[in-house]
Amino acid sequence: MDKPNCPICFSNSLEIKYHGNIRNGKYPNVVEDRRVIKCSECSIEFLSDYKMDYDSPGYRELVDSDHTADAYYAIHDKDQYAKLSFIDLSKLRE
Ligand SMILES: [Zn+2]
Repeated sequence: MDKPNCPICFSNSLEIKYHGNIRNGKYPNVVEDRRVIKCSECSIEFLSDYKMDYDSPGYRELVDSDHTADAYYAIHDKDQYAKLSFIDLSKLRE
């Protein structure tokens, strides 16, 4: 493993908090032999040696098994009903 620096404060005062497999998107996807690193200076914890483009179709496929808008809506629309109570519905008429 290359010795990383903290992505926030760039300190090299780091410790390994976890070493092993981590879930990667939707179960049962995993990546093996990963490390969670903690910065002793700013306390952030981050994955070492893991790059993911969260806007990519590949990420959506890992999380939802499909990257199309229709698939996203099918999975997440039902989660929106509870949030409607927080919206002033009169604003939607304007
Ligand atoms: Zn730091």
